[in-house]
Amino acid sequence: MSSKDIYLKLKAETDEEILLHFPKRYDDLSVSDLSFPLFDNQKVVIFGSYTKMLPIQGGRIIRLTILSERYKVEINATLFNQPFYMRVLKKGRPYFYLGVYKEKQKTVMLTSILSYNSPLVTNRYKPYYALPSTVSQSSFYELVLDILSYRTDYINDVLPKELIGKYKFEDRLTAFKDVHIPVSFENVKRGLRVFKYEEALKYCLYSLYTKGQSSKVKKGIRKPIDKEKINEFIKNLPYKLTLDQVQAIREIIIDMEKPFTMNRLLQGDVGTGKTIVAFICMYANYLRGGQSVLLAPTSALASQHYQRALEVFKRFDIKIVELDSSLTKKQEKEVLEKIKDGDANFIIGTHSVFNKDVVYNKLTLAVIDEQHKFGVDQREEMVTKGEGVDLLSMSATPIPRTLSMIINSDLDVSFLNMFPHEKREVVTKRVTSNDPLIYKAIHHALDVHKQVFVVAPKIEKDDKSSRTSSKLVYEDMVKEFGEDNVSILTGKTKKDEQEAIYSDFSTGKKLILVSTSLIEVGVDIKNAALMVIYEANYFGLASLHQLRGRIGRKGEGALALLVYDGDEQEAIDKLDYLCTHVKGEDVAMYDLSNRGSGDLLSSRQSGDSMLRVANFVTDFKIFECAKKDAVEILSNLSSSSNQSYLNYVLDCVNRTNKIN
Ligand code: ADP
Ligand code: MG
Repeated sequence: MSSKDIYLKLKAETDEEILLHFPKRYDDLSVSDLSFPLFDNQKVVIFGSYTKMLPIQGGRIIRLTILSERYKVEINATLFNQPFYMRVLKKGRPYFYLGVYKEKQKTVMLTSILSYNSPLVTNRYKPYYALPSTVSQSSFYELVLDILSYRTDYINDVLPKELIGKYKFEDRLTAFKDVHIPVSFENVKRGLRVFKYEEALKYCLYSLYTKGQSSKVKKGIRKPIDKEKINEFIKNLPYKLTLDQVQAIREIIIDMEKPFTMNRLLQGDVGTGKTIVAFICMYANYLRGGQSVLLAPTSALASQHYQRALEVFKRFDIKIVELDSSLTKKQEKEVLEKIKDGDANFIIGTHSVFNKDVVYNKLTLAVIDEQHKFGVDQREEMVTKGEGVDLLSMSATPIPRTLSMIINSDLDVSFLNMFPHEKREVVTKRVTSNDPLIYKAIHHALDVHKQVFVVAPKIEKDDKSSRTSSKLVYEDMVKEFGEDNVSILTGKTKKDEQEAIYSDFSTGKKLILVSTSLIEVGVDIKNAALMVIYEANYFGLASLHQLRGRIGRKGEGALALLVYDGDEQEAIDKLDYLCTHVKGEDVAMYDLSNRGSGDLLSSRQSGDSMLRVANFVTDFKIFECAKKDAVEILSNLSSSSNQSYLNYVLDCVNRTNKIN
């Protein structure tokens, strides 16, 4: 493959962008000591040549016997799905064989095989890159080496000089070499330190800069909010608000009364009671004469919010409409007219609320529930639907305050840490699909008349497992528990049916609801006490936590069963972590430190795309320093190096966003 092709495949335009494609991991090539028996899941490196090769199923599986050069012992090894090795491997020639030993099968499951003269193995540590499947490790690495040896003219330092001095960073070329041609782990760390800091500074600077920009949007004069009425409203609620809820409401209303638009995040674990906070703020907005929109990611959740709002505000002269893609043309027209004429005070809906046909009369507050389900653009678009719109985003990703202050540098944040109910206990267990506990638990739930969620990742069957399909799981459930007890709800269910199914389920007419992850966000069924999640490994940790947040909402004990039949260690670790950790905060931290911010935060803001090596959790200290430095840079933009660095960062963000 030519280097031009690699540029194309990686969407890189410059040499620097190639170099910024950092190794995903480093494999230690020091060979394993084979004078001891191998243990289960041990990482193994064997240097030697193979003595036997046995391809099975046309090479889908290849069994090898490898003779270690140093230890003179033979080791069994297995290769999956890499039939090309039948052609590539030469008998009698030594290779590095990398893999993991599996005690049960008594074999080393190979992950890669490297030729001893590959440029990748010149050092003890072999960099491994995440690359498109058409780009090979070695062709990419040759390009990297080429750039680092002959084309270094354009690799310049980018940080302001003072900061390079302050942290004693090595020059950028050396840093690139340290990361790509690792002589030792110390070197890798030294090099990465530079790039992590660069990313952290870019992130913080960009966040703080956008925050500064957006807080300059003036609102114009508004009627003051009648606090008496709000207090009255709170007093009449059927329950007492938690202190956190009261505090959040206070913070939001103070923001709403400021002359500049609000951009606040309300952060609280599943079940901390965000909805009522949103409602009260919408009420406050109503009191000052504005229209409010509440946006939810699924129509199930939007409907639930709508029903709740009707209930909560039933004694008020507040007009509430629901806007959803499933409305008939006629219904839609009516709703749109109400919105336009100001005949709707609260508009509750899904993505439809963005539609260009929706003309708001006086939109001044937008609330976005489960904000991570929406893209940056959508969140930004919402505020353009009115003038000086205050924006309240809500998130169930419970990141600790200190971390949130970094990640959400571009926002103001209110936290709900307290749960309205003292005890919230969801016992979580990992089981296999034939575990009798599953049906036993469901039977028990039916006996005591509690609702049961049964979740499967897909609607249809895929070729791997029948348990991925909610349809097939539904059929199984019907067989065991009878049609009268079971209903099914998927993304394909029609809207009017959905509502009927929901109401049957929430009123307890049918106690088992089979569904896809549709129910992940927000839905609140007070009596639900059991959840069975089939093929649980399909879901991210954050989703699983959200899912189990659907049960035990009354503060009574509840059980979540994570069904997994496979033997992938990563999946097992993930599920077991969930079984031993109930706090959303722990789950969020595990997710953040293990998989980067991608899954959990979606694309929270435009600056995210710049984070490649820096991790919010593991590099927290770096982010803290970077944030302080970013504040300093922004407060002193008369310095030309600061201003030009800011321009550089804005330019980077623009470019990455264009590529993505
Ligand atoms: P989430 O933060 O996950 O969106 P919800 O807003 O759906 O949580 O609230 C969960 C449940 O708790 C709802 O049934 C709601 O009526 C109830 N709730 C909210 N606040 C309180 C409170 N202060 N006391 C008792 N129940 C509350
Ligand atoms: Mg919610």
